Amino acid sequence: MTNIEAKFLDATRWRGLLFTGEWTRGQGPVITVTDKAAGTVLGELGSATPKDVEHAVSIASKAQSLWAARTVEEKQAVFRRAMNLLEKASSEMGEWIARESGGTRAKAEVELRRAHTILSEAYAMPAEACGMVLPTTTGRLSLARRLPHGLVGVIAPFNYPLVLALRAVAPALAVGNAVLLKPDPQTAVSGGVLIARLFEEAGLPPGLLQLLPGDSAVGEAICVHPSIPMIAFTGSTRAGRRVGELAGRHLKRVSLELGGKNSLIVRADADLKLAATNAAFASWMHQGQICMAAGRILVHRTVADELTQRLVEKAQRLKVGDPMADGVDLGPLINARQVEHVQSVVDDSVSAGARLLAGGSHTGLFFLPTVLGSVSKGMRAYEEEIFGPVACITPFDDDEQAVEMANDSDYGLSVGILSRDVRAALAMGNELRTGLLQINDQTIVSGGQIPFGGRGCSGNGSRIGGPANWEEFTQWQWVAINGQAPSYPF
Ligand code: NAP
Repeated sequence: MTNIEAKFLDATRWRGLLFTGEWTRGQGPVITVTDKAAGTVLGELGSATPKDVEHAVSIASKAQSLWAARTVEEKQAVFRRAMNLLEKASSEMGEWIARESGGTRAKAEVELRRAHTILSEAYAMPAEACGMVLPTTTGRLSLARRLPHGLVGVIAPFNYPLVLALRAVAPALAVGNAVLLKPDPQTAVSGGVLIARLFEEAGLPPGLLQLLPGDSAVGEAICVHPSIPMIAFTGSTRAGRRVGELAGRHLKRVSLELGGKNSLIVRADADLKLAATNAAFASWMHQGQICMAAGRILVHRTVADELTQRLVEKAQRLKVGDPMADGVDLGPLINARQVEHVQSVVDDSVSAGARLLAGGSHTGLFFLPTVLGSVSKGMRAYEEEIFGPVACITPFDDDEQAVEMANDSDYGLSVGILSRDVRAALAMGNELRTGLLQINDQTIVSGGQIPFGGRGCSGNGSRIGGPANWEEFTQWQWVAINGQAPSYPF
């Protein structure tokens, strides 16, 4: 262990424990926290069972109503302190995120900046208007106000562990809910301990945030518990379907932010040097383990060879290795199962006629940046979310065909269009079935203030972030006030 055990995230605080308002033992087995590139052990964290969920619900329920009644100033003070702590400990946190998720320091820094924006957005929420006065014909005062759900279950994945958990935890708390957080066990420090420590030190009243690392049984216990009326889930479409079914059976509100097979469309008039860097970033950033990664690079046939050549040169130049070392661009994939999946998609697609132009193999968890040319409908590389560093190039002949190809997917998360003709790009954009649309940018673009989410198998129509957060994390109550009770004909 290096200096990362020293301070804010000091492992002696949480070794073998989970967080219920205090660091305490859970009933599940210990989770071994690892450095994904080096394969070394960073610590051991406690884990929960469905029984711990029951206990957490009772603590959180007691804390929630008191928290909802706290003043604006009291709530804001917590978020202000959390922002300060995030800034002070950012170097240490960045190292944890990089090691535990196998990402570069630059990616961890992006995460920390996003986390800061999320906290600052949450800081503002308690001071925002939370209702409206409605017109009335009877003389009564008619109000609609937004109230917290009570308890919110947050289930998050491994790839952007801090941001994808915090983007639900922070606004849910800010509008008066208590939260039960189940991070992915592979990144339970960056996506769990870090958040619990932030709010613990920031003075969040004990009990409001329950950290319950554990397996899918813990996630399912959260989904079915009758006292948790809302679930915010980010992860695969497969698990999201299950979460949606369970939550639906219990008539819960559920926000599902799921997978993607996103197209980056390069028109013939695009600047190809810029198109190449955009396509490279969208394909290989964080080893392609991003829901918004470009799963398809659709390029006009007349410029396909040149763009392909530029991408191949970039793939050959990028450095793969331990992201803690200088100059490394791509780190490891998260686990061996994911490596096998990526390898099989590449191999099957090549057998089906795709041309392997760069990469295509791995050493341990380290997969080379890969370029597949002539990818076409029916090939796994065209159809499936890969979640690995594979650029899949498919030529098109006109705008109409490009739109048809981009829409030819069950997913609908993000599309980017690169063109010097913004009007033509926007006309294409109007026909696309996507939650996020970038004109003249690649597909991996997000931000704290935007309503993030997808269509089709990328989600259930929920949005998270910015203007969507009040809608997600509160519900309407109609309040009517009369001077005296009216008389009725009964
Ligand atoms: P995953 O397998 O679905 O896991 C995500 C989380 O769900 C983990 O905490 C996991 O815990 C939990 N989980 C799994 N099965 C569950 C169940 N039956 N009930 C309750 N919880 C359950 O996702 P992943 O493969 O690690 O992550 C990658 C996927 O997430 C990709 O498809 C990616 O596109 C998507 N993603 C989407 C967004 C977005 O905002 N749209 C952002 C990032 C990633 P266990 O691991 O313990 O089972």
